[in-house]
Amino acid sequence: MKIGVLAVQGNFREHAAMLRRLGADVVEVRTPGHLDGLDGLVIPGGESTTFMRLMRLYGLDDAVRRFTGPVFGTCAGMIVLDREHLGLVDLAVERNAYGRQVASFEADLELEDEEEPLRGVFIRAPRVREVGPDAEVLAEYDGEPVLLRVGRFLVASFHPELTDDTRVHERFLELVREHASAGATA
Ligand code: GLN
Repeated sequence: MKIGVLAVQGNFREHAAMLRRLGADVVEVRTPGHLDGLDGLVIPGGESTTFMRLMRLYGLDDAVRRFTGPVFGTCAGMIVLDREHLGLVDLAVERNAYGRQVASFEADLELEDEEEPLRGVFIRAPRVREVGPDAEVLAEYDGEPVLLRVGRFLVASFHPELTDDTRVHERFLELVREHASAGATA
């Protein structure tokens, strides 16, 4: 499986390492051409304003809009995908919404269909304010969604690449596999 990780800024290395650990062939995406032939794409955490600026500069904003495979956005990556930015996922997100005091924290999350809790690392995390009708909530914190699947998109307000737990990335790779086999039979 060939998975791209947007590598213009932010913590793309940690995502790449985790995906390689799970057996994926990883491509660091810095130009639109790097998206050719990818089965899936990860947009990591970092600074969403910087992402938007650099993506525009390299023509990656339109290229990502044209990309038809599954996309996994974490933290700033989730912000970039929302209604207000690339407009690919029907979500409204508020940036840096946990306030200064608790801007960064960790919490155990209950992951859908799993007994073992998932450690969520939140770093100046966004908060999901509105979700469209197709969103499926996979994990919540304090009664609010923090991990969601919306069609071919998986979005997390925390950083699953910063722990040793590979379960969220495994779910993304399952989504990629599902998408590839649905395409093959269509
Ligand atoms: N606060 C950042 C933003 O608004 C996101 C933080 C992160 O990705 N860890 O883009």
